[in-house]
Amino acid sequence: MSPYKYSTLAVHAGQYPDPQTGAVNVPVYLSSTFELTGIGTDRGWDYSRAGNPTRDRLEEALAALEGGVSGHAFASGMAAIAALVAPLHAGDHLLCSHNVYAGTVRLFNQFVRHQGIDIEYVDTSNLEAVAAAIRPATKLIHIETPSNPTMVLSDIHAISEIAHAKGVEVSVDNTFMSPVLQSPLALGADIVMHSTTKYLNGHSDGIGGALIGSTPEHKERFLLVQKAAGAILSPFECFLVLRGIKTMPLRVRQHEENGRAVAEYLSTHAKVSRLAYPGLKSHPQHELAVRQQKGFGSMMSFDLGSREKAGRFLGALKIFINAESLGGVESLASHSATTTHAALTDAERAAAGITEGIIRLSIGIEDKEDLIADLEQALQTV
Ligand SMILES: *Cc1c(COP(=O)(O)O)cnc(C)c1O
Repeated sequence: MSPYKYSTLAVHAGQYPDPQTGAVNVPVYLSSTFELTGIGTDRGWDYSRAGNPTRDRLEEALAALEGGVSGHAFASGMAAIAALVAPLHAGDHLLCSHNVYAGTVRLFNQFVRHQGIDIEYVDTSNLEAVAAAIRPATKLIHIETPSNPTMVLSDIHAISEIAHAKGVEVSVDNTFMSPVLQSPLALGADIVMHSTTKYLNGHSDGIGGALIGSTPEHKERFLLVQKAAGAILSPFECFLVLRGIKTMPLRVRQHEENGRAVAEYLSTHAKVSRLAYPGLKSHPQHELAVRQQKGFGSMMSFDLGSREKAGRFLGALKIFINAESLGGVESLASHSATTTHAALTDAERAAAGITEGIIRLSIGIEDKEDLIADLEQALQTV
């Protein structure tokens, strides 16, 4: 355990002066290969797929920020999820939250399932359903909380207890909360996954992913996947995430303050229905959010009633950008049914509660008064 508090860790974990030059920033080592010191001996690196000094520093920072044993950086969030399930064998049973990121469903249904892995989607907000779904062949429960875009929470601590009693591991996609606002490993989970594309990078200028393990066995397992399957993050992209991490606690505080203000504003608006934001007392799982999260974040969704109204609203926005993704400094608004959840079938979308009028907001770090004024003028056109 580190003696330092969070913002100090964000600036310094993995990011110490370069021993050779004193450079305050982590150097970008653009080298595919490294000189060996003899036969079978090296200075710690031999080939950048297996390990790179810049990536090492990011992985050290990721492990510190999630309180894990090891961090592993991948070329995208999806590459991280592919690496998470790569060690599973044919016949293994994988339980997954039924309302996870649609790209996860696409990967599982179009590829992983055909490798003989038995994938079952379960409502992980329902603990009885989770307990009932575990079988002798179950190896992993993969959960995402809060869910996208409906902001349904799953109880990480309770699910971990249920899983561990049966020898099953729990992985948590922590992308929506960021490492600042939710610590799955401290709540009992085994593995944390991130799309670093979102809050960790924070500036919408790179794609990346990460796994953070909690045991030395996880470290060995994911190092082997990185080396064997090769979907590692490039040194320059690692540098961008390292740079983003330094300001992440500061950014997330502003995201959060703006998120709360926007949610309060929308909660009383006549044209907005089904507003989902765990920070509102009216959210059915507000109490769980208070218990398991360190804040409520800046993601929310609401329903404008139809695709036509959603289109008019998006077209009228001046500051919010109509774009997918989240967690960057700029505020984004998106139509879930045709963007993030386009990969789902109509039936899957209906089951996940994603209607044609749903708008998802990622609240950025602009002045909240400007954001609310922008939403107000766009809602007037609906
Ligand atoms: C974006 C996202 C992913 C996928 O990450 P990429 O970096 O786009 O590959 C996975 N899970 C969640 C919750 C995400 O928001």
